[in-house]
Order: sequence, then C-alpha cells, then structure tokens
Amino acid sequence: MALRYLLLDKKLMKCLPESTKATKKKAIDLAKKICRLEGICLKCGRTKAQGWRIHAHHIIPVTFGHTAALTSNLICLCAACHSTGGHAAHQNPIEFSNWFNESFPGKYDVLRTIAHNKSKVDWNLVYIGLQHEWKMKSKEE
Ligand SMILES: [Zn+2]
Repeated sequence: MALRYLLLDKKLMKCLPESTKATKKKAIDLAKKICRLEGICLKCGRTKAQGWRIHAHHIIPVTFGHTAALTSNLICLCAACHSTGGHAAHQNPIEFSNWFNESFPGKYDVLRTIAHNKSKVDWNLVYIGLQHEWKMKSKEE
C-alpha cells in the first residue's frame, strides 16, 4: 500500500516542476487528442478511416481558461468543416454557431457558464485528469 502512494506521489511530482504555461499547453493538446479519438466529423460525417483529416474545434475560444482543455468544449470536425471549407467553423462562425445550437441544444449555455468562472485554473490537476481520461478512452478504441 505504501508503495502505491509513493508511485502516485512520483506521478504527481512529474507534473509539478513544469511551468504552468507548459502544462496548460500539454493539457490543451491532450484534450484535442482525446476529442480526435472519435475519428468522425460530427457535422458532415467524414471519417479518419476514409482518409479525412480530423481536427478538434473549440466551441468556446481557447482564451477562456476553464474551458480551454475541457473535452466537452471540443468538437470533432473534418478539416473542411473546421477551417478550409466555405461553411467551415472558422470561415463562417455565425452559421457554425447556428448549426451547433440546433444540433446540441443547451450545450453552449453550459459551456459559457463554465468559461465565465473567474477562479484560477490548476493546470497540473487538469492535466492529471486528462491523462486519466486518455487512458480510459484510448483503451476503448
Ligand atoms: Zn466535416
């Protein structure tokens, strides 16, 4: 039992020496990786298996700390629906917002409430949680 605690402490200690900024970036990157596990564009249905590039799109912009690495704030989109196509989220954000709100009623309001949290984000804790989420979801694949 004592050894288990020691191992857990070692895992936690690995996260601590890094700067908050570096851990934040790692957390956001891992959240995107978890999102992309879906492998399908939730807007048009194109899949990674068909050879399409799959991206993770932030519903609430990444500048809001509490939702920046929240996997429920990410949506799996193909490159065309994310950034390159005429109807892409980044080309036509109002059209995208309308589609999102019709497809996922109420979700934007929940995310917006979380995003407006003014407390400081503990990026080490967020990253540890995401590592656990990654272990669970990547096993399902
Ligand atoms: Zn698409």
